[in-house]
Amino acid sequence: MEYGKEKRKERLEAYSLTTFGENFIHLTKKEQYIALTQMIMEEIVPKWKESLNKYSDKKKAYYFSAEYLMGRAFSNNLINMGYQSEIKEILKEYEINYNQIEEAEEDAGLGNGGLGRLAACFLDSAATLNYPLMGYGVRYQYGIFKQIFEDGFQVEKEDDWLKLGDPWSIKKLKDQVKVNFADGDVLAVPYDTPIIGYGGKTINTLRLWEAHAIHPFDFREFNEQNYDLAIKEKNKAEMISKVLYPNDTKDEGKILRLKQQYFFVSASLQDLVKKHLERYDTLENFHQFHSIQLNDTHPTVAIPEMMRIFTKEYKMDWEKSWNIVVNTFAYTNHTIMQEALEQWPVRLYQALLPEVYEMIEQINKTLIKDLQQRGISYEKIKHYKIIENDSIKMAYLAIYGTHSTNGVAKVHTDILKKRELHFWYKLYPERFQNKTNGITQRRWLLKANPELAEFITELLGSKLWITELNQLKKLEVYQEDKEVLKKFLKIKQKKKNQLAQYIKKQEGIEINPYSIFDIQIKRFHEYKRQLLNAFHILDLYYRIKQNPDLDIYNRTFIFGGKAAPGYQRAKGIIKYIHEIKNLINNDKEIQGKIKVVFITNYGVSYGEKLFSSADISEQISTAGKEASGTGNMKFMLNGTPTIGTLDGANIEIIEQAGQENNFIFGLQVEDIERMNLTYDPREYYEKVEGLKRVVDSLVDGTFNDGGTGIFKELYDSILKGTSWHRADEYYLLKDFESYRMAQKKVNDAYKNCQNWAKKCWINLSNAGNFSSDRTIEEYAEEIWRIKNYIF
Ligand SMILES: *Cc1c(COP(=O)(O)O)cnc(C)c1O
Repeated sequence: MEYGKEKRKERLEAYSLTTFGENFIHLTKKEQYIALTQMIMEEIVPKWKESLNKYSDKKKAYYFSAEYLMGRAFSNNLINMGYQSEIKEILKEYEINYNQIEEAEEDAGLGNGGLGRLAACFLDSAATLNYPLMGYGVRYQYGIFKQIFEDGFQVEKEDDWLKLGDPWSIKKLKDQVKVNFADGDVLAVPYDTPIIGYGGKTINTLRLWEAHAIHPFDFREFNEQNYDLAIKEKNKAEMISKVLYPNDTKDEGKILRLKQQYFFVSASLQDLVKKHLERYDTLENFHQFHSIQLNDTHPTVAIPEMMRIFTKEYKMDWEKSWNIVVNTFAYTNHTIMQEALEQWPVRLYQALLPEVYEMIEQINKTLIKDLQQRGISYEKIKHYKIIENDSIKMAYLAIYGTHSTNGVAKVHTDILKKRELHFWYKLYPERFQNKTNGITQRRWLLKANPELAEFITELLGSKLWITELNQLKKLEVYQEDKEVLKKFLKIKQKKKNQLAQYIKKQEGIEINPYSIFDIQIKRFHEYKRQLLNAFHILDLYYRIKQNPDLDIYNRTFIFGGKAAPGYQRAKGIIKYIHEIKNLINNDKEIQGKIKVVFITNYGVSYGEKLFSSADISEQISTAGKEASGTGNMKFMLNGTPTIGTLDGANIEIIEQAGQENNFIFGLQVEDIERMNLTYDPREYYEKVEGLKRVVDSLVDGTFNDGGTGIFKELYDSILKGTSWHRADEYYLLKDFESYRMAQKKVNDAYKNCQNWAKKCWINLSNAGNFSSDRTIEEYAEEIWRIKNYIF
C-alpha cells in the first residue's frame, strides 16, 4: 500500500506539527528533511517488516563490521523505493528546492574509508538482489572527524552527526542485551536502519549497537552531592560507542578499541543465539541458518566468543562447537600492510576478557596439536601460533577459525597465497579464495550522475543496467558514434560545471570548468603516493616557468582526503600540497595553465560530485600495496580513464577496458620483489632530470612547514631511511619518470576530444564487472551458501 499525494502531504503536516510544532512550510531545511523522512518511514516500515518475515525460516548471512560508511540515505532510499519523482513534485508545490533538503542530511560517516564504504555497497547490493544479509556494527555517536584546514594544516573537529537525531533508525529497546567486561557490564541497545533494495522488494536491516550504563544514575552519590560520581558509570559505559577510531593504520587507546570490538560482537552473537533458540531449541544446527562474514580482523573476537557461549553457557563439547564455528564464519582480509595486521597484547585480553582469552588459549593449543598430527616440525609450528611473544595474532585466529579467507582483488589474493600468508595457504589451500571488490551503481551512477544514467537508459532502451551492470557492455557499439560521444562529453561538461560551482561555494576557489579535472581523492597514506602526484605538479610548474610556451592543456589538480590524526607524515604531505597550491595559484604568470585545489572534508557525498565529473582518475599506489581500491571503480563507472599502477583492482580494470584506454606506468609487483634490496633512491634523485629540484623543495626554503620540521622528515624518509623503514619505501623516485611520461600522454590524448571520449566510453562500457552486485553474488554462492528467493 502506497500513499497518494494528498495523503502524503497530510502526513507531512502531521509530522511537522507533532515533531516541530509548526507547519511544514515554516520549518528549517533540516526540520523539513526530518519531517519528510518520518513521513517516508511510515510507508517503509510495514514493507520492511513484511520483507523480514519472508526470510524468517531461511539461512541468512550477517556482515560483522566495525565500520559502515553510508553517506546520506534520503535520495538513495527515495530512488530505491521509487518515490523520488513524487516527493520532488510535492516539494515543488511547496516551492522548496529538493537539493537543499537533500543537503540538509548529515553524512552517516561511521567509517574511515574503503573498508567501511565496501560494507555500505554490499548492503545495498544484497538487498537489491533479494539476499537476506543483515549488517551488525557500532552506533558511534561521533563518526569520522570533520576535516578543516588552518594555514594548510589539517585540523580535526568532532562529527556530531546525531545532533538532530537520525530519523532513519528505530531504537529496539526490547532487544537490548548485556555485555560483560571484567571491569563491569554494560547494556547494548540496538538501532535498526532499513536497507532498501532497488525496487523496494527486499528491505534488510543494519543493526547498530549503542552502549549504555546499567545504572546510569546513582541517586545515593547524587544525594551526597558527589555529582561526578553520580554519573560515573554512565560516562564510562557510553564511552564505548562514543567515537569511531579515526585511525586505520595504528591502534591507539587500545583498551577502548578492544571494548568496542567485543561490545558489538558479543551483542550481535547474543542476538543471533537468542533468536535461533526461540525457533529451534538447539544450537547444533546454528551454522545451517547463519553465515557470518568478518570484515577484516576487527570482529574476529567473535570466534572465541562463540566458543565461549557454546561450551560454557550451553555446555556443548569443544569439537562439536568448533565445527559449528568454523562452518559459520568467513574472513575477509583487506590489507597486507604489516602495521595493519592486528595483534593484541595478551595482558589486555586477560585483564578485560579473561574467559574469552581462555578460549583463545584453548584454540591455540588445539591448533598446535592439529599441526603436530600433520607432522609439521616444531620450527614451522612457530609460524602458525595464534599466541606468540605475548601477543594475539588476529589474522591467524581468523584463518584458523573460519572456512573461508578471501582477498579483495586477484593480485591481492595471489600475494596472500604466495607471500604474506603462504604457510597458511599450504595448510588450507581450499579455504583461500578471491572476491574482487565492487561498488553499487545505484549510488555511484544512478544517484551521483543522473544525467549520464538517463542517457544510458535511453541508449539501451531499458533500465535493466540498474540491477544488471553487465548490460553496459552493449554500449560499446557506440564507441565510434560521434553523436553519442558528443552527448557524453556534453554531460561530462555539465557535471564539471556543477562541481566548479560547488567548489566555488565550499572552498572559495574559482576553477576553469574547461580544464582537465585530474582528481586524487582517498585517505592520505604514504603508499597511496599523493606525494608523487605533488612532485609531478611542482615539476610541471617549474617547467612552465622555464618555458612559458610549454605545450600543455589547462589542468586542475584536485586533491581530497583525510590523514589519520596521529599519522604525522600523511599530515605533512597535506601541508606540502597546500604549499604547492599557494605557490601555483598565486602565480599570475602561469594563470590558467595549472591550478591546484584541496577540497575540504572528503566523504561519500562530496565523492558523488567528484567521481562523476572527473576527467582523469589518479590510482598511483606502489604496486602490491593497495589491496583493491574501490575509488578506481567509481571513476571508471562514470567514464573516467585511470592513470595508475598495476596494483589492486587497477589490474582488473585494465583487463576489462584495455591498457590503451588508460595510462599505466611504474613498477609492477614482481619488479619490486626483485629490486627490494638493491634499490637506491639517490641514483634517481641525482639522475632524473628535474627530480632533485622538486625533492629539494622540501628542505631548501621554497616552502614553509610552520617550523614543524615535517618537510625535513618527509625528505629524510625518501633519501635516508631509518631503523624502521628503508629509504623511499614506496618507490616515489623510481616511478617519477614513468609517471611524468604517463601524464604527458594524458595531456596529448586529451587534445583529441573524440578519441578521448572514446577512451571514456570504453571504460564506462566495461565497468559491469565492478558492480558490488557481482561481488555479492559470489559471496552468496561461494561463501555464504544462501539463496535469494523471488517471492
Ligand atoms: C570509495 C571511497 C573510498 C575508497 O577510496 P580508495 O581510492 O579505494 O582508497 C574512501 N572514502 C570514500 C568516502 C569513498 O567513497
